[in-house]
Amino acid sequence: METHIPLSELDKPAVSIMNDVIKTCVHCGFCLPTCPTYLETGSELDSPRGRIYLMKGVLEGTLKMDDEVVEHVDRCLGCLACVTACPSGVQYNELIDNFRPKLEVEYARAPMDRISRLMLRQVLPYATRFRLAVLAGRLGKPFSGIMPKPMRAMLSLLPQGSLPPAEPLPEIIPAQGTRRARVALLSGCVQTVLAPEINAATVRVLTRNGVEVLIPRNQGCCGALPLHMGERQSGRAFARRNLNAFPTDVDAIITNAAGCGSALKDYAHLFDGEPEEERAHQFAAQSQDVSKFLAELGLSEQPQSLGRKLRVAYHDACHLGHAQGVRSQPRQLLMSIPDLELVDIPEAEICCGSAGVYNITQPEMATDLLERKVNNIGSTRADGVATGNIGCLTQIRRGLKQKGNMWAVHTMQLLDWAYQGKFPIE
Ligand code: SF4
Ligand code: SF4
Repeated sequence: METHIPLSELDKPAVSIMNDVIKTCVHCGFCLPTCPTYLETGSELDSPRGRIYLMKGVLEGTLKMDDEVVEHVDRCLGCLACVTACPSGVQYNELIDNFRPKLEVEYARAPMDRISRLMLRQVLPYATRFRLAVLAGRLGKPFSGIMPKPMRAMLSLLPQGSLPPAEPLPEIIPAQGTRRARVALLSGCVQTVLAPEINAATVRVLTRNGVEVLIPRNQGCCGALPLHMGERQSGRAFARRNLNAFPTDVDAIITNAAGCGSALKDYAHLFDGEPEEERAHQFAAQSQDVSKFLAELGLSEQPQSLGRKLRVAYHDACHLGHAQGVRSQPRQLLMSIPDLELVDIPEAEICCGSAGVYNITQPEMATDLLERKVNNIGSTRADGVATGNIGCLTQIRRGLKQKGNMWAVHTMQLLDWAYQGKFPIE
């Protein structure tokens, strides 16, 4: 269960970080054309510059933490396209990450909003609870018309057909041939329920390339979901569990989910001034997306052709591209597959609307952004999409259902199939 501490314990350092970020903004507006919500609404208050103005007003006491402020702050995806675009180096992520916990303490959300958020926090980070909730959700689908909006949005994201069986991978999977590296894998919570085949493919690709993979048994959610929702204490509790569960004597801590990878990197700031600070910095430094790790290690065995020519559009997950700067490495790995033509998607920097739990808490904006993304994907005339994040995969698959037979898979799945010389999608 979550524990809460008074905001006063977080407030002083958080306020000073936020003020430092705000001071670096020179109001140039270069970030506006890359902000998805600004592109959709055209409102300055839905832009990074507008939100900085709102948060500054609240911090200085000239604005109240009222419905209008919260509406525009809630509408921010946390996609960090503005950080990539900003020529002044404004670390907007540090501002929004510190403002959200303040908002949750100072603003009284409507009862239904509170209940939905509590359910998300109590279910999504726990694989067993999430699996049960998916099964219960199936039974509830016929009644979705009378459910509140966030619950309807959640049901629309559930996969068709039965869930894959829960088959935990072994704790240690040895490298094939000479061992070149030893890593520990974060298995993730939502992904292990919705798409366990992604972890299985990741492990096969890594071990085939001489990497021994450990899957620490006591690990849990990375904490990204509560952190996105401004629940810092809950996020820290998850992070603390992982700091204890993962070994230190590995070459890297690997994740194949961009959102989780970005959260693991944030452990470096989560424990400043706490006894865990040093360990958290070490953990964050060791954490890497699997595509970066593998591209830098180099493939020891070249993939084969997938047995047919494929045109694949690569989707940059925001938490891989904007948050971690990982763009070239997954492309490099995919381009090593013979007969695979890789194409970029127009407006690649614009979020697909997934953004953690955003497609549940802000379903209208998420759907508009999904439509925009799917239209851009369609314009590439690709056979399918590859990406490195379970949230984007779930969201884009939902959008592609209306686009004929385009598929969306994880980068590691394409590599895995290439090593087996087969492409299993009809
Ligand atoms: S955040 Fe950066 S790009 Fe946006 S207005 Fe401020 S200085 Fe300009
Ligand atoms: S994080 Fe994304 S949605 Fe939020 S202000 Fe920046 S660009 Fe806009």
